[in-house]
Amino acid sequence: METFDILIIGGGPIGLACGIAAKQAGLSHIILEKGCLVNSLYNYPVNMTFFSTSEKLEIGETPFVTTNPKPKRAEALEYYRRVQDKFSLNVRLFEEVLNVEKKEDGQFITKSSKSEYRSRFVIVATGFYDKPNLMNIEGEELSKVRHYYDDPHYYAYQKVVVIGSSNSSVDAALETFRKGAEVTMVIRRDTIGERVKYWVRPDIENRIAEGSIKAYFNSCLLAIRPNEVDIQTPEGRVETIANDFVLALTGYQPDFAFLEKIGIQLSSDDSLIPAHNTDTMETNISGLYLAGVVCGGMNTHLWFIENSRIHADIIMKHIKIKGFATA
Ligand SMILES: Cc1cc2nc3c(=O)[nH]c(=O)nc-3n(C[C@H](O)[C@H](O)[C@H](O)COP(=O)(O)OP(=O)(O)OC[C@H]3O[C@@H](n4cnc5c(N)ncnc54)[C@H](O)[C@@H]3O)c2cc1C
Repeated sequence: METFDILIIGGGPIGLACGIAAKQAGLSHIILEKGCLVNSLYNYPVNMTFFSTSEKLEIGETPFVTTNPKPKRAEALEYYRRVQDKFSLNVRLFEEVLNVEKKEDGQFITKSSKSEYRSRFVIVATGFYDKPNLMNIEGEELSKVRHYYDDPHYYAYQKVVVIGSSNSSVDAALETFRKGAEVTMVIRRDTIGERVKYWVRPDIENRIAEGSIKAYFNSCLLAIRPNEVDIQTPEGRVETIANDFVLALTGYQPDFAFLEKIGIQLSSDDSLIPAHNTDTMETNISGLYLAGVVCGGMNTHLWFIENSRIHADIIMKHIKIKGFATA
């Protein structure tokens, strides 16, 4: 069985940052990633622009040079591939971690879709982008309902309902509208989300005010059928409108079942925050750490690349304090 000091689950920006920190600390490591390198970013909308400026997305003190202050998805993919080339991290792609068990000798045995590994420490950096928050309404299983949005061209000349008013929903509404879709937004609250990028907000507010994009505020979707949807309006009325596609960009959540399966406790409130010491990032299991956006549980807006890059160094510092022996 292959043996490493540190096994990292997830090859996103923070998993890579942990690999770099391990390498710099002289520890052997392996990163197991179930998809491609920075798989979540790869699955973001093709035209997406980060809200962070490029230097805030840097890891391993490697400059992220872009012509515009805020990079686009394609530039981020180039950048993180470049980082991987520079550090030659031990990344295995398209290899999903299925389970992690701590044995009596204190070592972890990690079972993946391809192999088994032994390690002294494990870092879970699995993000939150694989599990969409479901609406649990009639018709959600129809193929015209999408929880991920990629490219606007596909929706040209179609009647599109966009659920929610987060950054993702607003970007999708504006992009598809500009490619000729007839867009209706269905928004639970009475306003556009407060975290919507400041330079995008006037655009969506003006499109709604002029009526080019229709918005139902204080409303929710009740049912989806192949050619129409039912909307519950604040007046208590149910309105039925013709519809071709539903973009249900209702957010995502970490894989809680996986976290529980490997023994990490979740908070008992709605946030389901996985137990960890914020000074060390160690979970309720000694030697098992959390890093990146997964730390926030259902509060997926708490952590992002910008503010969780530091988790890698915090963890490595703690591992050094605990002492380690290369197995
Ligand atoms: C549209 C959008 C725009 C954003 N813009 C910004 C921004 O401007 N600035 C910013 O700082 N943040 C931004 N974020 C948030 C940021 O992208 C995430 O916080 C970031 O990806 C977190 O990195 P991570 O490594 O923790 O998780 P991820 O990037 O999600 O990486 C986790 C990885 O783990 C893998 N994985 C999951 N389970 C397993 C398993 N069992 N076995 C193996 N691999 C597994 C996944 O495939 C994934 O590649 C944005 C997010 C979205 C959705």
